[in-house]
Amino acid sequence: MNTLSNNAIQILKDRYLIKDKEGKLIETPEQMFRRVAKFVASCENEKSTFYERNFYSLISNLKFLPNSPTLINAGCKNGQLSACFALPITDSLDSIFTSLKNAALIHQSGGGTGFNFSKLRPKNDLVSSKSSTSSGPVAFMKIYDTATKYVKQGGKRRGANMGILNIDHPDIEEFISSKSNKKSIENFNISVGITDAFMNAVNNDLDWQLINPRTKKVVKTLAAQSLWKLIVKKAWRTGDPGLVFLDTINKSNPTPNLGRLETTNPCGEVPLLDYESCNLGSINLSKMIVYKANHYSIDWDTLSKTIHLAIRFLDNIITLNHYILPKIKAITTSNRKIGLGVMGWAELLILLEIPYTSKEALNLAEQLMKFIKTESYKASENLAKERGVFPEWKNSIHVHKTQMRNATCNSIAPTGTISVIADTSYSIEPLFALAYKRVGILNNQTQTEINKLFVKKMKQLSLWNLELENTVLKAGSIKNIDSISEAIKAIFKTSLEIPWQYHLLHQQAFQKYTDNAVSKTINLPRNTTKEDVSKIYKTAWEYKLKGITIYRYGSKSNQVLQKCHLN
Ligand code: ADP
Repeated sequence: MNTLSNNAIQILKDRYLIKDKEGKLIETPEQMFRRVAKFVASCENEKSTFYERNFYSLISNLKFLPNSPTLINAGCKNGQLSACFALPITDSLDSIFTSLKNAALIHQSGGGTGFNFSKLRPKNDLVSSKSSTSSGPVAFMKIYDTATKYVKQGGKRRGANMGILNIDHPDIEEFISSKSNKKSIENFNISVGITDAFMNAVNNDLDWQLINPRTKKVVKTLAAQSLWKLIVKKAWRTGDPGLVFLDTINKSNPTPNLGRLETTNPCGEVPLLDYESCNLGSINLSKMIVYKANHYSIDWDTLSKTIHLAIRFLDNIITLNHYILPKIKAITTSNRKIGLGVMGWAELLILLEIPYTSKEALNLAEQLMKFIKTESYKASENLAKERGVFPEWKNSIHVHKTQMRNATCNSIAPTGTISVIADTSYSIEPLFALAYKRVGILNNQTQTEINKLFVKKMKQLSLWNLELENTVLKAGSIKNIDSISEAIKAIFKTSLEIPWQYHLLHQQAFQKYTDNAVSKTINLPRNTTKEDVSKIYKTAWEYKLKGITIYRYGSKSNQVLQKCHLN
């Protein structure tokens, strides 16, 4: 087993390890990894001992970690193991409150939920034959938000939601502005459901029609650009709304005969059908390397073995999972969607001494993700031979190509907690800062830390001393330190020093070979303009990304990570 960092041990103790009724820990991290490995191998029949050993080695060496609900609940009574769910909302109180109840149950079990509110009749529209009027999607979203606030996940963390409203809904302007107030709808990420038709209308300065979903009648016509400007203004100010590109998402819908994809999970990495759920897991790229002849290179052989084992692991979870609702079980086991992604991309680049802002990094991103996709598909094909194709395979786009065990194989999740457990950088994000003040992860305590790879490199170059340590703690970056060469500075560039173009190019490179989606935050300096935000959102659509989220430094009060300012 790999040694765990102090942060990892603290998070595991806080949220993941089993406690008795008095709240006393009755499990060590090693026992947690053993519990998970044993449970996930328990459907392997006569090979269960072999796979238990292999799964244990995979996760305890931090080469791969499944999403948090699997680490927390595997092997426990009625353990719910998935991170991502989508629930339908149709235009009736019955549907709204049925999904609200189901969302509460999902949150309680550790999962996150996504909803598209566009089928709801707009605010002030007529309700039944009486003379009352509807409250509209934003009002119902607020009810969902409040419910989320009060349902804690086993007393551990609050739930998370994605709320989507399509760009032609009559209440779209209210929706776009719904998070202007820092405290409002705080348990939701919100995204506007964008179509290609709307983007063409914006680019050609055309009119745009808002349509009542109940009557199908046009209720308002306005300039597409005025809606676009409103989106940009609000996103610039608060980070919300993001965009989801519904036509792009549906072009790669693996099961179009089962319905259109209308929503994603909370962080956007998995487009899902109504009631569908998905299991995620991420490979720790900083462990997929070998050190030979004084330098690091990618260990493709270890990576390939890790992918095959991880796909099997995630497929087993679909078989073993406890499903909260029969409808969730039905569609999830029909499509068997899984999402294998990555974490530690920035650390891998640092180890290989490749700047994030380089063509070489983008080429490697494509090469790496292409390899992961190809091997994931091979693994799923092998599982199909061994266990059978997913039940809806005949109804899917894969029927013309290969036998598959899973309708999708890859997603790039934010890895908000599992990358801390694995002690590596988040997902495909660059380092946010070389020194951190981390707030919120551990019961709102504040902690300071300096990136370990940076310290190691400075020691290697005999540059590490107290003065440098203090400077980095103050600034979070080394860009103004004269004693450090430009080549080294390029390798350690932090998120806000990286032009948005490179953030988007990395997202594009990974999206190209990811059948689900890529969750990425385009972190922007405070002085970014609204024109930049407009360009970023347009470029995201042109690059065929499935969604886009930005965050301008300082624009929201509760940031999980803050640049380190000690003075
Ligand atoms: P982790 O590192 O804990 O495995 P990620 O940050 O990678 O999780 O998020 C993956 C997915 O897990 C999210 O898109 C969302 O669906 C779900 N998720 C994350 N945080 C929460 C939360 N607080 N409540 C509910 N679901 C969550």
